[in-house]
Amino acid sequence: SSPDRVFNFAPGPATLPETVLKKAESELYVWRDSGMSVMEMSHRGKDFLSIIQKAESDLRTLLDIPEEYHVLFLQGGATTQFAALPLNLCKPEDQVDYVVTGSWGDKAFKEAQKFCTPNVIWSGKSEKYTKIPSFSELDQLQNPHARYLHICSNETIHGVEFKDYPTPKNPNGVLIADMSSNFCSKPVDVSRFGVIYAGAQKNVGPSGVTIVIIRKDLIGNAQDITPVMLDYKIQAENNSLYNTPPCYAIYMCGLVFEDLLEQGGLKEVEKKNKKKAEILYNAIEESNGFYRCPVEKSVRSLMNVPFTLEKSELEGEFIKEAAKEKMVQLKGHRSVGGMRASIYNAMSLAGVEKLVAFMKDFQSRHA
Ligand code: PLP
Repeated sequence: SSPDRVFNFAPGPATLPETVLKKAESELYVWRDSGMSVMEMSHRGKDFLSIIQKAESDLRTLLDIPEEYHVLFLQGGATTQFAALPLNLCKPEDQVDYVVTGSWGDKAFKEAQKFCTPNVIWSGKSEKYTKIPSFSELDQLQNPHARYLHICSNETIHGVEFKDYPTPKNPNGVLIADMSSNFCSKPVDVSRFGVIYAGAQKNVGPSGVTIVIIRKDLIGNAQDITPVMLDYKIQAENNSLYNTPPCYAIYMCGLVFEDLLEQGGLKEVEKKNKKKAEILYNAIEESNGFYRCPVEKSVRSLMNVPFTLEKSELEGEFIKEAAKEKMVQLKGHRSVGGMRASIYNAMSLAGVEKLVAFMKDFQSRHA
């Protein structure tokens, strides 16, 4: 890897595969025989159309997305989807269920309150968002009339991840997941979901594009007040090209999808992610309490690993020393403190091994 690059443990925007960055660099000025950069192309020209179509088809292969789902490349971040979902799927009086396992689920719920009638059926807040409810418990709590059940499959700040997915109690209801921070980190059975959405800037690209995978029969009933940009029907009918899309971000995602396919697809990617997470969590467990991860073991995220120091006064020193050794962005979110190592697809095993070696060394000097 390039000597002037750091190991970037940021939660997003996050590290990208070097092979992808180099490929992008090699076609930065002139993309194939187009005579121009992807940044300069018309989004309606044949070159860009081939780029967005290839990106979609590679993503469909990666996640084995069934024909009855649309794939949309939208703007506004996952945050915009917090509003678009209730606007498209509900009338104001419609009831929907939210499982709140961290701050992102909470934000999604709060936004939905403006457009429909959501209920938080379970919240992990009183336990500092360190748990995922059991599905039998959720079964009891679900509203049988809820139009959808919303989860955040991986809470980026708190590091809790669903390892399997609940089923909506309403036979006509659908499961919706904010997969922003574990999208394409492992295989997922898309057919279990009505909608999957994810900001790209963690696992699959730069910021600026949000991917929405939505079952086709769920579109077409948006509330009248729905802004045109948030209307899935309009976006789907125009193949995400109703207005000018985030062309370059879509192109970069396309390069990442190609790279993930070259790695052997998401089963292989998951194996690597499990290995990285395992050595990091093991290092925390084997530190005799010097490091601590607050999250319940069975739901620890493969992507975002929060941890604290028993001697919390050393946390600043830990982050500073790590940065000197080219491991950056390890500070935990301001709402929880401590440290957080985000180890998305593009974080190499070497990066995690280096972090673990540093942690052991830091402990030996400060224990
Ligand atoms: N959902 C999750 C799980 C996130 O991690 C984030 C951002 O970090 C968001 C939603 C918000 O995404 P955006 O900044 O793209 O709106």
